[in-house]
Amino acid sequence: MTHLHLNANRQRGETGWRGRFSVDALKLLAHQVSVTALDLIFPPQCVHCQRVGSFLCPRCLAQMETAPPRTVQGLDDVRVALTFEGPVRSAIHALKYEGVKRLAEPLALLIVSALEDTNWSVDMVCPVPLHQRRVRERGYNQSALLARALGEHMKWEYCEEAISRVRETQTQTHLNAQQRRENVAGAFTAAPAQVEDRCVVVVDDVLTTGATLEACATAFRAAGARRVYGVALASAVFADAGMGVFGTPGLP
Ligand SMILES: [Zn+2]
Repeated sequence: MTHLHLNANRQRGETGWRGRFSVDALKLLAHQVSVTALDLIFPPQCVHCQRVGSFLCPRCLAQMETAPPRTVQGLDDVRVALTFEGPVRSAIHALKYEGVKRLAEPLALLIVSALEDTNWSVDMVCPVPLHQRRVRERGYNQSALLARALGEHMKWEYCEEAISRVRETQTQTHLNAQQRRENVAGAFTAAPAQVEDRCVVVVDDVLTTGATLEACATAFRAAGARRVYGVALASAVFADAGMGVFGTPGLP
């Protein structure tokens, strides 16, 4: 596919940040997740509303909201495409746990749309790595699917081996921001031979506190990376409130 821009209409109003994708963009995305010969025999269903015809129907795509701007410590810049709720949450769940790998392609296009206002100079794109044991259990790394598809669209070199997870980390669902930082600190290591003096984009599926991307950035810089950018498909809204527990159930 050729390079593609999807224009989201973003604006800051009295109710806060709202962004929607244009009708043309939605049609294109719906097409991306719909047609193969096999689908005529086993028609795909929308992963959010179960409507038959595509893995993400136009109505659910239209409900997706662009994410408010985020910053992450240790990154030169970061972009996040969508807010982690409704159809976005369903799409990420389907990509991550239900094996609907074909969603990576249209979801990567939504990330492309979020990169429109950047002028990053990029040498390579890498996913946030899973631990090998997790890869064996799941069969694939959902962030790697996103990073590979993003690299193809942006004409960035894709490199999965530049960073690896050197120790397993506990699930972060019930950890607060500080606990998350401690949980992932030192969990990653990057290969100097591949990243030294290069500008790297690291891709995650969901950005919550930013602890994971920050830990990846630390590893890349230790290996000599010149710049480290981050992208995530979705931004999770959470309520820390000093309780140590986030308000959004099922957060990754
Ligand atoms: Zn739907």
